[in-house]
Amino acid sequence: SSRAGLADRALEWAVRLVGAEFGMLLDGDGTLVAVRGATPELAVARATSLLGSDNQVLGSAGGLVGSAIILPLPLDTGTGYLLAQAGPFTPVFGLDEVVRLRQYAAAVTAALDRTRVSERVLALEEVKSRFLKLASHELRGPLALVKGYMSMLSEGVLSQDELQRVMPMIQGRLEQMTGMLNEMLDTARLEDNRLELKAELFDVRHAVAAVTDALKPQTGTLHPVRVRVPPHAVPVVADRARVETIVTNLIDNAIKYSPRGGDIDCIVEVRGSEALVAVTDHGIGISGEDMKTLFTRFGRITSDATVSIPGTGLGLYLSRELARMQQGDLTARSQAGEGSTFTLQLPLAVGAPA
Ligand code: ADP
Repeated sequence: SSRAGLADRALEWAVRLVGAEFGMLLDGDGTLVAVRGATPELAVARATSLLGSDNQVLGSAGGLVGSAIILPLPLDTGTGYLLAQAGPFTPVFGLDEVVRLRQYAAAVTAALDRTRVSERVLALEEVKSRFLKLASHELRGPLALVKGYMSMLSEGVLSQDELQRVMPMIQGRLEQMTGMLNEMLDTARLEDNRLELKAELFDVRHAVAAVTDALKPQTGTLHPVRVRVPPHAVPVVADRARVETIVTNLIDNAIKYSPRGGDIDCIVEVRGSEALVAVTDHGIGISGEDMKTLFTRFGRITSDATVSIPGTGLGLYLSRELARMQQGDLTARSQAGEGSTFTLQLPLAVGAPA
């Protein structure tokens, strides 16, 4: 069963075991996981005052503190607490109750640690099945298209003109699939702490130019990309390929989420000790409510406007993690219906001309 459910039942028994007026269970990170016989506010206030003033007295074994029994729970996640409070109409606690509750607390600690392991396994299962679903959903479309054209090619039914026309489309779909697969692989690596970054000194202006050149076939007349860079070098020490992936992802999104077209601005700037790359579009934008979905794993905003736009919901999550792993960040500002600005920030390599 879930951790909260288990904690709740464990606490119910603990309260009964010693005849407490109320009780509570604090998790290893200090959050309240269960409370019985009192409001959460009262429980937290009582726990704060008891733990705050008597922590020293309490020691690692815990015991009686005034009219309450407090027992530390050495959980995997940190020290949690089981607290049972006697009231005016309940028995006064003695050593007997402390011993009884201490034995019980040891069992509760073990059980809570077990649920953490099983919840982690469940979460991994969930991620695995989402990956599989994503791979089958998102890759099936472009794969079917490429396969269709391939069979037409092998049967020789495409004229030279038609061939010229469909080649860029096939190329585009293949790149789209490669991009999605790379995102999935990098996310999987990130999950298992296997994502390795290379550090090299380069000029952000050159990385942005490489990206915009590569994206030219996609941007076209509907989404002209205007690049603005400073006249001086913008040196950073980072994983250049990953930085290019982030900028590609931002411009890709600016195009995808501006279905009716519009200018895209890509501005490179130095501000203080940071190099900034800001990508602004005039597309569908994001509402305040939807902003919290951004940067989450698999987080896609679903609406009539986005339903037919392909994507994995991994790009921004991965991009922000990659930026943060390199002491940078990725932030967003947006207004629904107006457009969005995503800003990548990386620490400048000081004193090193790129
Ligand atoms: P996806 O593969 O779905 O594009 P991302 O992680 O890149 O995944 O983006 C997550 C979600 O954020 C998108 O599904 C979309 O709803 C929203 N989003 C990202 N970029 C923009 C943008 N420039 N304008 C509006 N919405 C955006």
